[in-house]
Amino acid sequence: RLEIRDLSRVFAGREVVSGVSLKVMPGQVTCLLGPSGCGKSTTLRIIAGVDRQDAGGVYVDGVAISERTLHMPPEARGIGLMFQDFALFPHLDVARNVGFGLKGPKAEIRARVETLLDKVGMRRHIDRFPHELSGGEQQRVALARALAPSPRILLMDEPFSGLDDRLRDDIRDETLAVLKAEGTAVLLVTHEPAEAMRMADEIALMRDGHVVQYGAPYNIYNAPKDREAAAFFSDIN
Ligand code: ATP
Ligand code: MG
Repeated sequence: RLEIRDLSRVFAGREVVSGVSLKVMPGQVTCLLGPSGCGKSTTLRIIAGVDRQDAGGVYVDGVAISERTLHMPPEARGIGLMFQDFALFPHLDVARNVGFGLKGPKAEIRARVETLLDKVGMRRHIDRFPHELSGGEQQRVALARALAPSPRILLMDEPFSGLDDRLRDDIRDETLAVLKAEGTAVLLVTHEPAEAMRMADEIALMRDGHVVQYGAPYNIYNAPKDREAAAFFSDIN
């Protein structure tokens, strides 16, 4: 499980992440939801280890991976990342994109890659290159690649934002099914309330660097804490 406690980050004298605490259990999706600039991506970057907090800590299964003087390097954290620009390597085919960075005998890597591509419905495209895939197909491959090293924790930053509406709904549902089957603890960043309502087991509603409300989607939707939270959810139908 992933836990962050009282995380803060100051840029140019302004606290853009301010005392953020949350938990993500295995097999659960927690959505970090809030408007542009509220500090979502900064929070993810700190958890991933590509940025450092000014205060607070990050814990995996109760063990500190980042605290006052301790900063485990990103690659040692066992945390997977999937960001908005899927960033598949354009010069590598699907098989090598998904297997990139995996260690072990070639045959084992190939088997792992095939299993993952089966899960995301992309095995038949295993020999294609990224430019020969649609946006949705690239997204599926990116999911397979993110899951390839079997991360117990996956951070996703607006992973569906490049897709059109109908495709996005399908891919959200497929992605959710794969993640639940893997038992991954997922922290997903979005600025869309509808996406959080659809994907989340828990929502952390963020504003100006703070988590202003934290709980089950249904509870937040039905009992928004204040007028601003209510307004934020009001355009869902
Ligand atoms: P969006 O939904 O637009 O992606 P966000 O919630 O992810 O927004 P962040 O990227 O976390 O927002 O940025 C939070 C605030 O911190 C913004 O005001 C941003 O301009 C500022 N910020 C982010 N990174 C830096 C940096 N390296 N130096 C200075 N300010 C930064
Ligand atoms: Mg962002």
